[in-house]
Amino acid sequence: MSCWSGDDVIGWFEAAAEAAAARQTETLRRILERNRAAEYLRKWLGDADVQHLEASALESLFTSSVPLASHADLEPYIRRIADGETTPLLTQEPITTLSLSSGTTEGRPKYVPFTRHSSETTLQIFKLAAAYRSRVYPIREKGRVLEFIYSSKRYKTKGGITVGTATTHVYASEEFKMKQQQTKSYTCSPQEVISSGDYKQSTYCHLLLGIHHSDRVEYVTSTFAYSIVQAFRSFQEVWREICNDIREGTLSSRVTIPDVRRAVLEVLRPNPGLASRVEAKCQDLERRDWVGLIPELWPNAKYVYSIMTGSMQPYLSKLSHYAKNLALISAEYGSTESWIGVNLEPCTPPDKVTFAVIPTFSYFEFIPLHRQSHGGPDDFVEDDPVPLSQVKIGQEYEIVLTTFTGLYRYRLGDVVEVAGFYRNTPKLSFICRRKLILTVNIDKNTEKDLQSVVARGSQILRSTGAELVDFTSHADVGKQPGHYIIYWEIEGEVEEGLLGECCREMDAAFVDQGYVVSRKSNSIGPLELCIVEKGTFKKIMENFIANGAALSQFKTPRCTSNPVLLRILNVCTIKRFHSTAYAS
Ligand code: AMP
Repeated sequence: MSCWSGDDVIGWFEAAAEAAAARQTETLRRILERNRAAEYLRKWLGDADVQHLEASALESLFTSSVPLASHADLEPYIRRIADGETTPLLTQEPITTLSLSSGTTEGRPKYVPFTRHSSETTLQIFKLAAAYRSRVYPIREKGRVLEFIYSSKRYKTKGGITVGTATTHVYASEEFKMKQQQTKSYTCSPQEVISSGDYKQSTYCHLLLGIHHSDRVEYVTSTFAYSIVQAFRSFQEVWREICNDIREGTLSSRVTIPDVRRAVLEVLRPNPGLASRVEAKCQDLERRDWVGLIPELWPNAKYVYSIMTGSMQPYLSKLSHYAKNLALISAEYGSTESWIGVNLEPCTPPDKVTFAVIPTFSYFEFIPLHRQSHGGPDDFVEDDPVPLSQVKIGQEYEIVLTTFTGLYRYRLGDVVEVAGFYRNTPKLSFICRRKLILTVNIDKNTEKDLQSVVARGSQILRSTGAELVDFTSHADVGKQPGHYIIYWEIEGEVEEGLLGECCREMDAAFVDQGYVVSRKSNSIGPLELCIVEKGTFKKIMENFIANGAALSQFKTPRCTSNPVLLRILNVCTIKRFHSTAYAS
C-alpha cells in the first residue's frame, strides 16, 4: 500500500466507493473475526459464529446483540488496558498505545486505543487526499511543504502503555518516517522541530525554515486551521528576528533546545539577499495589515490546506485574510477514534465541502436525527441507526463507529448531513458536535448555535477594523437566575457603546425557543459579555498543552465549566457588559 502512486490510490478508493455496502460488511466481518475473543465482544456476542453468516445476518446479529456505547461505557476497559492488563479486552492483539482525543469542553482529554491500523489509515487518507488535490493543483516534484505540525510529549501509564495525541503517535510511526522519505514533497522542518515539545520554539523554527525554503514551498498546511492562524499571528511579532537569522545564518536565542538548535543550524546558511527581500515585503505587509501574507512570502504556494470546518470555522476569515486569493482547501474529516471521509473536490470552498466516507476504514452506522419543530434548531429526536447503504440525501445523522482498534458501536457525537453520494458511498457535510454546550434550564444550545450567535455579534466589529481573536462561553448557574457568559478576546480598539450593542445583538440572536422563552420570563438572566485582555486565549491553549494536549489537535473549548479555565478567563476580564431587558 505504501508504494502506491496517486492513480493507484484513487483507483483503490473508487472501487471501494463503488462497492461501498459490500466493503462495509467485509469490514465488519474482519473486525469481528479478528477480535472475536476480546472480553467486550464475548460479553455481547457469546459464542455466535460470525464467520459463516451471510452479510445481512451478520449485520443484524451485530446490531441486535451489541449495544450503542459512549466513551464512558468503554472507559472501564480502557482503564484496565492503561493499567497494564494484557488479556484481550477490546481487541485480540494487546493495545500498547493510547491516544488522547480532544474532549476539549471540560478540558479533560479522553483515552482512545491507537494501533498500527490507526497510523496506516492516516497515511492512506493523506495519500488519497493528496492525489485528488494534485489533479487540480499539481505540485512540483521534491517541493517543500510549510507544515505547522507539533508532537506533544508522550508518557507511559503505570501499566507501561504509551500515551500521546494521535498526531504525535503518527509523527513518531515508522509509516510516517517512510512517507517523509518517499513523498514528492518534504516538510520544511526536520523531525526535531516537530517533536520539540515546546510549541513556541517549534513555531519559530517552522516559520524560519519556511522562509529559508520560501521559493520551494508548494503549499501551507496544518491539521486544524487554528495552528496556521496562531503561527502567522506570531510571525507578525517575530519577523524581524527571523529576517536577522536568515541574513546571518544564525538561530535566535529564543530557541534553546539543543537538538532543535543543531537540526535547524545544519540547514541554515547566511542569505542576505533573501533577508532583505523578506524584510521589504514584511514592511509593506505590515502597512497593509498583513493581507496576503502567504502568497507574498511564499510566491509558489498553490494552496492552504487544513481542517477549516466545524469548530475551525471562526478562524476562516483570518485565514482568508492571510491567504488573499490563494485557494483554501478544507482537509479530511476524522477523529482520534477513526478517519471517516475524504475531500474529493479540492476546489469546493470550505463552507461547502463534503467528505466521502471511506468504507474500509471502520464500520459506520448512522443514527437519523430529526429536528423537533417546536424545539430549538438542535433539539433532536432519534430513530434506530441505519447502515451506510441506507442513508438518505438531506437527512442528518449522528455517526456511530465500529473500529479495528476495539470500539464497538461507539457514538462519536458528531452530527453530519448526507449531501450526496460518490458512487455508492455517502458524501457528508459536517454540521456540529451534538453535545449541548450551553444550557441553564430548558434552553439547548450547541457549539454551532453559539458560533452563529458570535458571528452575528462580531459583525458589528467589522466597521471598526477590530477583530475577534477567539471566544468561549460558560453557563453560570451559581446565582439565580442563571445566565450565559460569552468571553471575547479582541484585537483593536472598540468603543464601550459598541461592545454593549454586540452583547445585546448576541442575546437576541439565540433562536433556541427554550432560551427565548426563558429570557422573556427572566428565568435566564441577561447575557453577559466579558472582554478579556490580549493573550488570554493563548494562556488557555498553553494550559491544555501543559496537560498533555498537542497544538496540532488543539481546539479552543467553546464552553467551559473547568475551574482552572474560568479562573484564567475571569482574572483576565477587563470589561463586562450585560444585555439588559429582553425584547418580547
Ligand atoms: P480529535 O479526536 O480530538 O482530533 O477531534 C475529532 C473531532 O474533530 C471530530 O469528532 C470532529 O468533531 C472534529 N473534526 C475533525 N475533522 C473535522 C473536519 N474536517 N471538519 C469539522 N470537524 C472536524
